Amino acid sequence: MLYEGAIYRPPSEAFSLILQITVGCRHNACTFCSVYKNKRFRVKSEQEISDIIAWAKEYHPTAERIFLADGDALTVDTALLISVLDRLHANFPRLKRVGIYSGAKDILAKTPDELAELKAHGLSIVYLGVESGSERILKSVHKGVAPAQMAAAGQKVKTSGLTLSCTVIVGLGGKELSEEHARETAKVINAINPDFLAPLTLMVEPEAPIARTVKEGALTLLNPLESLIEIHALVQSLELTDCTFRSNHASNYLPLKAHLPEEKEQLLHTIEDILKHNRTELLRPENMRAL
Ligand code: SF4
Repeated sequence: MLYEGAIYRPPSEAFSLILQITVGCRHNACTFCSVYKNKRFRVKSEQEISDIIAWAKEYHPTAERIFLADGDALTVDTALLISVLDRLHANFPRLKRVGIYSGAKDILAKTPDELAELKAHGLSIVYLGVESGSERILKSVHKGVAPAQMAAAGQKVKTSGLTLSCTVIVGLGGKELSEEHARETAKVINAINPDFLAPLTLMVEPEAPIARTVKEGALTLLNPLESLIEIHALVQSLELTDCTFRSNHASNYLPLKAHLPEEKEQLLHTIEDILKHNRTELLRPENMRAL
């Protein structure tokens, strides 16, 4: 079987060939995330990985982009990852980019040399779920790392020369901590200075543990305009030198794209205009949002 369970990938990997070298997520404890809750984490065996590559070579020999799933595939032993990367580049002559999801702990567990080696063997982009820079919020959603560790992980990827895409989750602190969430998240993102910054907007699935927090009244969801106010506050505090800001994930109410810092003012004005004129017709309807 090539894929076990549902497969998730970042929006920018929509046209990539997805190769599932791990199943699930080693951490699998974030209260807002239910995507891997029914999967038991494991690294696929070398034989399984060889079979996947052989299948991919037969059916997608011209693949230019490959994404290694599932949720934190960078956790895989570096020697095995290098052998996977070598085989991918040997078997797919048009391959230009290999992407991977990673948790902060996976990055921190690798040495700078290991990350540099992965880049040298053709890993291109690492996706890191920062989610929030607020210590209180990270703790309450059981992210398993503190803001300082998150910043250190992001900086480590940047220093290695790998491209880094960070996601943050709008609304993760609810109305209660919206200002703190925007302010503290901007601090961590500024410390990392990622190549890409991609906000998602919190969606509460009934099976996610955070649903209970919402039900008990401890977290009040933001409405669409409040989500935009939070994004505005986040962007206002960003001080990045070369970053593509892209809210094209289907959970967001408004797709935005800007290069920072040059287009920061324009981005802020776009959001301000929608808020000022209450232009809700431009926002994605609730029933069209998805994870
Ligand atoms: S958000 Fe990421 S780290 Fe947390 S449980 Fe989901 S896949 Fe794992």
